[in-house]
Amino acid sequence: MSTALELARDGAAAAPAPYLTVEQVSKSFGTFQALERVSLSVAAGEFVSFLGPSGCGKTTLLRAIAGLDPASSGRITQGGRDITGLPPSARDFGIVFQSYALFPNLTVTDNIGYGLRGPAWPKARRRDRVAELLVLVGLAEHAQKYPAQLSGGQQQRVALARALANEPGLLLLDEPLSALDAIVRLHLRQEIRALQRRLGLTTIMVTHDQEEAMGVSDRVVVMSRGRIEQVGRPEAIYARPASAFVAGFVGRSSRFEAVVDAPSDTLVAGGLRLPCTASRGMLFGTRVLAFVRPEDVRLGAEAAALPGHLQAEVTHLEFLGPVCRLSLEAGRLRLEADATPDAVRRLGAVPGAILPAALPAERVMVFPIDE
Ligand code: ATP
Repeated sequence: MSTALELARDGAAAAPAPYLTVEQVSKSFGTFQALERVSLSVAAGEFVSFLGPSGCGKTTLLRAIAGLDPASSGRITQGGRDITGLPPSARDFGIVFQSYALFPNLTVTDNIGYGLRGPAWPKARRRDRVAELLVLVGLAEHAQKYPAQLSGGQQQRVALARALANEPGLLLLDEPLSALDAIVRLHLRQEIRALQRRLGLTTIMVTHDQEEAMGVSDRVVVMSRGRIEQVGRPEAIYARPASAFVAGFVGRSSRFEAVVDAPSDTLVAGGLRLPCTASRGMLFGTRVLAFVRPEDVRLGAEAAALPGHLQAEVTHLEFLGPVCRLSLEAGRLRLEADATPDAVRRLGAVPGAILPAALPAERVMVFPIDE
């Protein structure tokens, strides 16, 4: 059976009512504006990532949602409740930070149970809940250890269990994997995603790692300079970036300036004429930034069969495992192209070789340059 979220994604049903809304939120630190009229809504059970370069405001937005750095203006609601002015303690979230932020003098059990106090948590209930959480994050056999006796990945699982202890309505993850090495990082991100799905927990993660954001999120919010550039499913953001910033920031691409020629589905760039579907209808002479993904560049006989193909010189070759990345020069254009090691061998694509290359017209992304 499809979930409401899946139906909405397929366009077969209206989007579910948002669980969290951020409306026109701005945040200033002195004269510096860290967030500028940011608006966003997150559905119940969604996993959303804030992605962007350092300093773009991702953490500031997350902290505004948590109430740790309240918004200067705008409105935030969670579960239909206006939480804009509430202190963090009156909000309903659990948070995991990059630094594990565990109490070094408490055992794993006591770290996880730390927030389970007061009349709602008599001793037996607290013990049962901690035991449940230990199993949930796979740490049952480490219950009596201290943080210093755990690996980074294990410490972050303790932090995750502690964030989940109170059954919060919202899980906030602030670069939770940045301090971990690559393998643990990949493993833990998959575990977090599986856990989040199982619990149906609305989750927001801040990351500057695009593979991480694209790999686990229902939707990605791409930010730049305190603003949202694009919100969308990972595939949509990759295939149809909404701005030159997103095209350049998400995934790899070759980027070059071009001018729209006549007819308008032709670009002139670096002394070459290139067919381009996306520029159709743009005014003659419009200056654009064009982007092409390395996997979209065609080479050899396949390229020679396409209109507007080029003769390109291989200037550099990098072996990356499943693919090789070729640096190419055609006219004054510099391009990157990916090809399998087999294809590279077949094409004889060694540095210095000259081979046909083509940019398929429908794969060239263009954005007018603001004059
Ligand atoms: P990073 O990936 O480096 O953490 P980020 O996108 O999370 O970046 P933020 O931490 O949200 O960025 O910071 C956004 C901007 O606001 C930065 O320029 C930062 O210097 C500034 N900023 C954040 N917190 C404060 C503060 N408490 N006082 C002054 N400026 C701040």
